[in-house]
Amino acid sequence: MNSRRFLPTLKVLGWIAFYSLLSAPAIILASPDEGNSFVIRNARVFDGHSVLEKSDVWVENGKIKAVGANLKVPLTIKAVDVAGDTLLPGLIDAHTHAWGDALKEAEIFGVTTELDMFTAVKYMQQTKKDQADGKLLNLADLRSAGTLATAPGGHGTEYGMPIPTLSTPAEAQAWVDARVAEGSDYIKIVIDDASAYGGHRPTLDNATLKALIDAAHKRGKIAVVHIGNQKEAHDVIAAGADGLAHLFADSAPAPDFAQFVAAHHAFVVPTLDVLESVAGVAGGQSLSTDARLAPYLTSDNVSNLKRGFPKFSTPLDEKYAEQTVAQLKAAHVPILAGTDAPNPGTTHGASIHRELELLVRSGLTPQEALAAATSVAAKAFHLDDRGVIAPGKRADLLLVKGDPTKDITATRNIVSVWKVGVEDDRDSYRAAIEKEKQEVASTASAAAPSVTDMSLISDFDDGTPSAKFGTAWTLSTDSIAGGKSTGEMKVVDGGANGDKHALDISGVIDGGLPYAWAGVMWSPGAQPFIPVNLSAKKNISFFAKGDGQTYRVLLFTASGGRIPAMQNFVAEPSWKKAIIPFSAFNGTDGHDISAILFVGGPAAGKFDFQVDEIKLE
Ligand SMILES: [Zn+2]
Repeated sequence: MNSRRFLPTLKVLGWIAFYSLLSAPAIILASPDEGNSFVIRNARVFDGHSVLEKSDVWVENGKIKAVGANLKVPLTIKAVDVAGDTLLPGLIDAHTHAWGDALKEAEIFGVTTELDMFTAVKYMQQTKKDQADGKLLNLADLRSAGTLATAPGGHGTEYGMPIPTLSTPAEAQAWVDARVAEGSDYIKIVIDDASAYGGHRPTLDNATLKALIDAAHKRGKIAVVHIGNQKEAHDVIAAGADGLAHLFADSAPAPDFAQFVAAHHAFVVPTLDVLESVAGVAGGQSLSTDARLAPYLTSDNVSNLKRGFPKFSTPLDEKYAEQTVAQLKAAHVPILAGTDAPNPGTTHGASIHRELELLVRSGLTPQEALAAATSVAAKAFHLDDRGVIAPGKRADLLLVKGDPTKDITATRNIVSVWKVGVEDDRDSYRAAIEKEKQEVASTASAAAPSVTDMSLISDFDDGTPSAKFGTAWTLSTDSIAGGKSTGEMKVVDGGANGDKHALDISGVIDGGLPYAWAGVMWSPGAQPFIPVNLSAKKNISFFAKGDGQTYRVLLFTASGGRIPAMQNFVAEPSWKKAIIPFSAFNGTDGHDISAILFVGGPAAGKFDFQVDEIKLE
């Protein structure tokens, strides 16, 4: 959406992969052979278009076999009476960035299809391969743009991860063909000069934009476009885009804006939830305190919902986007529900329920909002097998208590979610989250250890990378997140202050990941990533020397979740002491520190530095 939007989210990508391998997430495997033939009796059925009161839905082998009142079904088929509840097609989130646990989190909240708008190509390819092999039945189905089209230095390039850019119409077909070869389901283009946020950034010119759209159409792919302001939205529609991946929030819509979109047969994914977050409204936070959702939100989800965007010099107003939605509705432009999760203030799955609420606030009826997250999205993206409850379609279903066609927030009252007829085990997921939250709470209330025990972490003078408490120092590289950085650690002679030894860390950072790292890691608990209350101390101090490059201290806390806080230091040719207050790491008081790392990266190249006398003060 804006020039800074991807920055936090792409940073998260690597750390999530990093952390996931250390704490195996609760993945529940569902068997396609069990329970995917059944009949749901007496539901209020929203079939994607309209409401059928007291209807039955018969599911056989993962597909919908019949819909109607009093269906005659063999006695061997399991029947469930759900009178009073509402059955919906599984929801489609038409704008996300998927990686890590995204698809699991999505499905828990009733989102059975995610339309990703920019992720790592490797992740897209692996996930789609697993889907094709019939795995991942307990995760939302993924469709993805893969990488995005942007100008050199344009939005999307700011993370250091090399992505293929272009700048002339002549390059457009080859660029699109490369995406098609990689497996992109549709083409995502960025048009954003950052002026809406008071900045400047290169962006594609209109001729290249049009060439990309034409090239996508030539290969039978639709083209969806990120825009930053109303003028860009207008240009994008004029160039023949199939849809806008965002709305603008820089100005009230021109009186004829929606008519113009309608005349060009384009659809719009407003992403109001992320626009309100950009505008500084804590809408996401309201999800974290909703008792219908909260038990299924991990502590990481909650911290992300509470995060905000940096303040922009030019303020944006989400109300402009709501006015535009009302205008688009009046002009019969297809409106799709999309969240832009996991940007700050949003999270996969849960945020679709906020988006539905905001679409209704903008003037859609609850039924129209539900259609935006089901049949309208399926039609716009040519997903002919889903988005409606009808014979022959996939049994991707969401059962909720109450009547969301009257009160849209009833979609949060989830009873069951099915993907191709396989019911998700939401109870186990909820239990795992409950357990995680109890562990975090018990750590937070743990007594601070005595000061004398926890001063010196390591001086390496026994000739090993051991520590006086917690774990020994171990090598940590981005290879566990798919990176190719390499590292080596060894205890060497000649420590700081004339002592015997120091720890030398060297290696090569590979530029293939935006968050590339290689270095050493230590945890204060008996096992990696067990948080310990170190709040009796105020600073971490250490001596460093090296090749003159800038290095990072990463600090993980239980409350900060999977994203470390970072501080830089320079390894000068001679030993220099650094003292960094805990508070410099996102304001922590040190009560739940789970790991400290000294690392090179993310800039590519060789590195070599030494650390010694690592202490808490
Ligand atoms: Zn996005």
